[in-house]
Amino acid sequence: MSQPTVVISSRGEERIRNGHPWIYRSDVAKSDAEGGATVTVAGSRGRTVGQALYSDRSEIALRMLTRSAEPAGRDLWRARLERAIAFREALRIDATACRLVHGEADLMPSLVVDRYGDYLVLQALSQGVDRLLPQITELLVELAHPAGILARNDPRVRLLEGLEQRVDVLHGEVPEVIEVREGRVTYHVDPYRGQKTGLFLDQRENRVAAAQYARGRLLDTFSYNGGFALALAPACEEVLAIDISEDAVARIRQNAERNGLANVQARAMNVFDELRELERRGERFDTIVLDPPAFAKNKAAVPKALSGYKEINLRALKLLAPGGFLITCSCSYNVSEGAFADVIASAAVDAHADVAVVEKRMQGRDHPVLLTVPETFYLKCFILRKLG
Ligand code: SAH
Repeated sequence: MSQPTVVISSRGEERIRNGHPWIYRSDVAKSDAEGGATVTVAGSRGRTVGQALYSDRSEIALRMLTRSAEPAGRDLWRARLERAIAFREALRIDATACRLVHGEADLMPSLVVDRYGDYLVLQALSQGVDRLLPQITELLVELAHPAGILARNDPRVRLLEGLEQRVDVLHGEVPEVIEVREGRVTYHVDPYRGQKTGLFLDQRENRVAAAQYARGRLLDTFSYNGGFALALAPACEEVLAIDISEDAVARIRQNAERNGLANVQARAMNVFDELRELERRGERFDTIVLDPPAFAKNKAAVPKALSGYKEINLRALKLLAPGGFLITCSCSYNVSEGAFADVIASAAVDAHADVAVVEKRMQGRDHPVLLTVPETFYLKCFILRKLG
C-alpha cells in the first residue's frame, strides 16, 4: 500500500539529520496527506528521508518514526512496543506501577502508556497516534495482557492537535480505584480523575533516593497524594505534608492510614503562604521536599517561574536545620538544569546558607531522555545538604 508523501525543506532535513524527530509546519514544503496519516517524508530533492506521523493542525507537523524508506506499519509498532515493555521488565522496578512507553524516548512519539497493576492507562497526544489507537490497543492486549486499558485522552495538549479531550475504556474493564504498590507503600489510584495518568510515576526513584537522607522532622510540599511523605515517613519522626487541593489532602490521610504511618499529618494550604508562616513562627525541619507543578509551561512564563523557584527554595533553606537535607525539583522543561541550579545557588546566597549538592537526579529510568531531544529531559531533582 503506498503512503501519502510529505515534502520538507532542507532545514527540516537538517533537523532530522541531527536526531530530532519533530518537523514544524514552517518546514513542510508540500503535503496532500490527511491529518493523522502515517506518511513518507521526502527531502527537497525528492529523496526519501523516512516515515512519520502527520498532523494537519499542530505546529509540530511531522513526528518521525523511522529514517528508512520502508513504510511504517503494524510490525514496526509491535516491535517497538515489545522492546519498550521488555526494557521496563529489565529494570526490575520495585513497584506495580511504572511507565511502559515514554513517547519519543521509546521511538513512539506522542504515545504514553503507564501500567497500574493489571491495568494500562494510555495517552494519545497527536492525531497520528490517536488514529492508530485501535491497532495499538490490540498490540498492547497481545503483549502486556492487561485486564483493562483506559485512554486518559483529556490533556489540554490534545487541543493543539484539534483532538477532543476524552476518557474512554478501550479494552476490558477499568475500576474506579486501582491499588498499586511502590516500594513499601501502597496507594489507591483513581485512573479516571487522578493527575497525569493517576500518579507521579516519574518521581519514584527520587523518592527512594530521598529516603536515604530523610530524618527528623520532614516537610513535604506540593505533596499530591503523599508520594514523598509516605516513602520518607518510616525514616522520620514527624511528617507534615502540604497540598493546596482538599482532595489530595484527603488522599494523603487515607494513604497514611492504610500504610500504618501514624506520624504523617496533612494540611490543605498554599505552599507559598505556609512557608512564610512556618518561617514567621520560627519552625525548623531536618528534611524538606519541594516538588511544585511546572511553573513554566511555556517560554514566556520562564522569568516568573524562576522567581517562584527562587522564593520557595529560599524559604525552604531558611527553614532547614543545619545538617538538614533539601530535595528540590523542577518539572518545567523550559527551565534547564543549569538555570535551575543557578536559582538554587542564588537562594542559598540570600539565605546565608552554605549548601552542598549531594545528588543531581532526573526523572525515573522508565521515563528515559532521548539524547537528541532536549524536550524529553524535563524533571530535575537536586538533593542538597545545608552545611554548618
Ligand atoms: N510530590 C507529588 C507530586 C506533586 S504534583 C508526588 O510525589 O507524587 C504538584 C502538586 O502541587 C499538585 O498536587 C497540586 O495540587 C499542588 N499545588 C499546586 N500549586 C500549589 C500551591 N500553591 N500550594 C500547594 N500545593 C500546590
